Amino acid sequence: MKLIFIGPQGSGKGTQAEIISEELGIPHISTGDLFREAEGEVKGQVDLYMQSGKLVPDELTLKILKQRISQPDCKKGFILDGFPRNINQVNLLKTITEIDKVIEITLSDFEALKRLEGRVSCEKCKEGYNLFTEPKPKNPLHCDLCGGRLVRRDDDNEQAIKKRLEIYHKETEPILNEYKDILIKINGEQNIEKITQDILKALR
Ligand SMILES: [Zn+2]
Repeated sequence: MKLIFIGPQGSGKGTQAEIISEELGIPHISTGDLFREAEGEVKGQVDLYMQSGKLVPDELTLKILKQRISQPDCKKGFILDGFPRNINQVNLLKTITEIDKVIEITLSDFEALKRLEGRVSCEKCKEGYNLFTEPKPKNPLHCDLCGGRLVRRDDDNEQAIKKRLEIYHKETEPILNEYKDILIKINGEQNIEKITQDILKALR
């Protein structure tokens, strides 16, 4: 089964992709991992873009993805997470493989903002928490594990979050229409276990 997971930041898309990957025994391929694990000639190219803070071009990402999904562990299928994220990438992806189902994890902007603004981590041991959703710390100021001070992540300020949500609406949401015949919508405003159950039920 070849799957794509789509959802705004804060929807828990990556977490669900990881869980479903284990349940179905197919690899979870995130764009971040793809770039980190790139080898040989393409690795040099990816590093050049990343080091200069530029976006890796879609054509190069596709080349790496094509190598990845030709590995033996992808024979039964795979889960794509973070690609495609715009129409150009959808069209490129069509040239190398056919997708079976697209899972959209929905979340209102209101809820996304609330969840992302609640994200904190321990200054000392780096353990992550959320002040509004699970995993909640017992005390909002201090780490459960080591007592260290809990601080908000730098990139989680309101402006940056709103910008990312805008990009999601403008560039990523239109691709859902491209996949409307194989699209499964899952309510992301539930707890992690319930979301997993809904996805598995929809795929059976
Ligand atoms: Zn700690």
